[in-house]
Amino acid sequence: MADASVQGSICSGPIDENRSPDPATMRIGGFVPFTSIDYPGELAAVVFCQGCPWRCSYCHNPHLLDARSTELLDWQALLEVLSLRKGLLDAVVFSGGEPTLQDALPGAITEVKKMGFKVGLHTGGCYPDRLEQLLPLIDWVGLDIKDLPEHYPALTGTPGSGERAWKSLELLQASGVPFEVRTTCYPELPAARLEQLTSRLEGLGIVHHNLQEYRPV
Ligand code: SF4
Repeated sequence: MADASVQGSICSGPIDENRSPDPATMRIGGFVPFTSIDYPGELAAVVFCQGCPWRCSYCHNPHLLDARSTELLDWQALLEVLSLRKGLLDAVVFSGGEPTLQDALPGAITEVKKMGFKVGLHTGGCYPDRLEQLLPLIDWVGLDIKDLPEHYPALTGTPGSGERAWKSLELLQASGVPFEVRTTCYPELPAARLEQLTSRLEGLGIVHHNLQEYRPV
């Protein structure tokens, strides 16, 4: 995943935390205008959505976790940057943080699609219901499956998080939207458990399972 610390200089003023579906209220914590590694086979820009309900010990974008941060980029200014990149980029990837936290995401995705870009989504699968509603809008998903479900709470600090992520995987498989499953090989994940996880995913018919190197924060 691209590093969200590479941010643009299109900072807006403070935006109240709200649940508005208006894309203008998107809380954006970072933007990478060009990457070839965040959407398989496509040149993309990455929009880093601010806020995440989980607190994984290995999170390498901790500055994106606080949903109430006021260090935000302006959505409209970002769209203007994207409009200058039509023909140069194939796709826009919404990453985070956790993009599905925000009610404005469907509207923001629709705006980007109207500009002719494909849309990718990086998600931890925190909100399966919201993911299910979004899937018809999305061209590719990178879903983190961090561990076996029962080991999630020790990592994310959130009871029930494992069931949510694995439910998201089930919905994604049923949707037919292309996706890859990503697992970060964090230090507390023993090799035997990683093998168990890999074989459970294989048993589900998961073809694309990407093991990501752990990077200390
Ligand atoms: S789900 Fe992702 S963004 Fe949220 S804390 Fe975990 S690693 Fe960080």
